[in-house]
Amino acid sequence: MNILILGGGAREHALAWACAQNPACDRLVCAPGNAGTEALAENAALDILDGENVARFCADRGIDFVIVGPEAPLAAGVADVLRAAGVATLGPSAEAARLESSKAFTKEVCDAAGAPTAAWARFEDADAAKAHVRAGGAPVVVKADGLAAGKGVVVAESVAEAEGAVDDLLALGGSVVVEAFLRGEEASLFVLCDGEAAVPVGTAQDHKRAGEGDTGPNTGGMGAYSPAPVCGPEVERRAMDRIVRPVLREMARRGTPFTGVLYAGLMIEDGAPSLVEFNVRFGDPECQALMMRLGAQALDLMLACAEGRLEGERASWADDHAMTVVLAARGYPGGYAKDERIGGLDALPATADQQTFHAGTAREGGMTVSAGGRVLSATGRGATLAEARRRAYALAGAVEWPGGTFRRDIGWRAL
Ligand code: ATP
Repeated sequence: MNILILGGGAREHALAWACAQNPACDRLVCAPGNAGTEALAENAALDILDGENVARFCADRGIDFVIVGPEAPLAAGVADVLRAAGVATLGPSAEAARLESSKAFTKEVCDAAGAPTAAWARFEDADAAKAHVRAGGAPVVVKADGLAAGKGVVVAESVAEAEGAVDDLLALGGSVVVEAFLRGEEASLFVLCDGEAAVPVGTAQDHKRAGEGDTGPNTGGMGAYSPAPVCGPEVERRAMDRIVRPVLREMARRGTPFTGVLYAGLMIEDGAPSLVEFNVRFGDPECQALMMRLGAQALDLMLACAEGRLEGERASWADDHAMTVVLAARGYPGGYAKDERIGGLDALPATADQQTFHAGTAREGGMTVSAGGRVLSATGRGATLAEARRRAYALAGAVEWPGGTFRRDIGWRAL
């Protein structure tokens, strides 16, 4: 089978690595890929937001299966075009991808499905939103309704802060959603869905803040581990029964069945999960930890998902743990240098228990150089989280890159 993976981050490198383990994988192409995917796949320069263009590439190159990594091509309808062209594709339609891109849409679907989520209201008018905020008091959460690259959410500690957020987020255009504040611990549940059947493929927790102790600015994610201790089998079962399956039924009822990866961001209090947000693709860096644990079966499950054959499938779990530690350019998520030489990569162990996935890397004159903010994902797997952690940090510490930095406390809550 010939497989095309869309995206160029460590998530896509991890997906490529898992697919490459599977004997069913003949040829692997990543678009655009990075210096890491180059070692196990062909990198192709392709406008991945242009569905017709991707479909043409698939026809020319005999691609049988496309895995869409990031959300942008999904929101642009690339999966719709590929499916219409007869290419098996992992990823939802643009319509179903609204579960990520529109917070108000997600809330409506959850309410119709009876799925637990924070009480909410949507406003286009600043005065009405502020009156609602004052009536409910703080803490309260104000969100831009639409994709805002992680910058559209303010968890306000005071009414004044929330009122300021209403003005700031309405200035982005569109509307705001004001939500009740949920208490508890956050975790993510990843589920493959084929429109009807749903198969959980792992839980994880991530660290969004740049600084140790979960301080400093928000980032794309500085590390993650799987499984999430707070989301054990019983909590997972509740999340599947109360949130994921009812939402899938509601999406099907609306004539927009969800197929692909549903990423449920949960808040868990006393064993009861509520939905914070959906994403419609794997998380990065969570995917790196999940792929380490799933290995070759990830391809079988993703293909069964794309072909509508998930009924009766399940992931087979070893009793293992995985952790990924993100190496970022110093200064990220603010300004940072690029084109810095990164050494020591060839000498790193690359096994079923240790993998260094690339994100913002490029090759220049036979050398690997930094080419983005988040640059590498040092990933370890082991019988315990502590062992996975040791293996991940052994990799991170052996990378020769003076301009790089990483958090030393990934997994602190679980350990
Ligand atoms: P991202 O996709 O980057 O996680 P986003 O812009 O989609 O962010 P949300 O996931 O909805 O936004 O919110 C971001 C974070 O804000 C959550 O991970 C959570 O920590 C916090 N948060 C959001 N809603 C609530 C809520 N109702 N109660 C408490 N915390 C919340």
